[in-house]
Amino acid sequence: MTGYIHSVESFGTVDGPGIRMVIFFQGCPMRCKYCHNPDTWAYGKGTQMTADELLEQYDKNKEFYSNGGITVTGGEPLVQIDFLTELLEKAKKRDIHTCIDTSGVTFNPDSVQGMEKLDRLMEFTDLIMLDLKHFDSGEHKELTGHGNENILAFASYLEKKRKPVWIRHVVVPGITDNISHLEKLGGFIGGLSNLKALDVLGYHTLGVNKYKELGIPYPLENVPQASADEVMKAKKVIYDSLIKTRKEKFGK
Ligand code: SF4
Repeated sequence: MTGYIHSVESFGTVDGPGIRMVIFFQGCPMRCKYCHNPDTWAYGKGTQMTADELLEQYDKNKEFYSNGGITVTGGEPLVQIDFLTELLEKAKKRDIHTCIDTSGVTFNPDSVQGMEKLDRLMEFTDLIMLDLKHFDSGEHKELTGHGNENILAFASYLEKKRKPVWIRHVVVPGITDNISHLEKLGGFIGGLSNLKALDVLGYHTLGVNKYKELGIPYPLENVPQASADEVMKAKKVIYDSLIKTRKEKFGK
């Protein structure tokens, strides 16, 4: 089996614990307005690679990954779930720490086959990094092209599975920084017993040139980058709500 791979970063330090090999999968059904990887959207592009070829690349630098491992990101890695499962199964046989960075958009609890595949994938997954882009489904759809009901259901599925989760949220001025949304988001995250970490990141415009190269109009043309102060304020609202919920639900 081969997967469509956009690119590989050998020494990633922000996509999971430790130093990691970060594999960018090609293809994504979302269209997040702030996406800085629009070149990963199209299906059937990139380089076709086998799991063994990717793991051979890992082996070349494996001494650097002793506290890290492999993170798969994209694009949306779960779109290629069969290949992803083969890759992570082989990685676990080598005792490599595995992390999936996902939007959760492919989660469909009504699909028996889809759930069987996901359950199997989870057997070889140590950590999920889940991007929660907006707590309000209507706003989420406006921002990404999809509602968020199945994404929040995916978060609940992960909690039932006791799968360690690391949540990410991007603060976009005027779009994802309103207090009510941040409080609800913090409350939801705080209620997850499997929460291991939370990253609150500021929106940046580093991907704008890729849109120009691809001839795609940039959707957030007039939106400024989030300042450090705006990110700090958003973080505080999320954390206050998160801590309150954890005290109420878990007593700590
Ligand atoms: S889910 Fe990720 S790769 Fe897909 S559009 Fe959104 S930010 Fe980009």
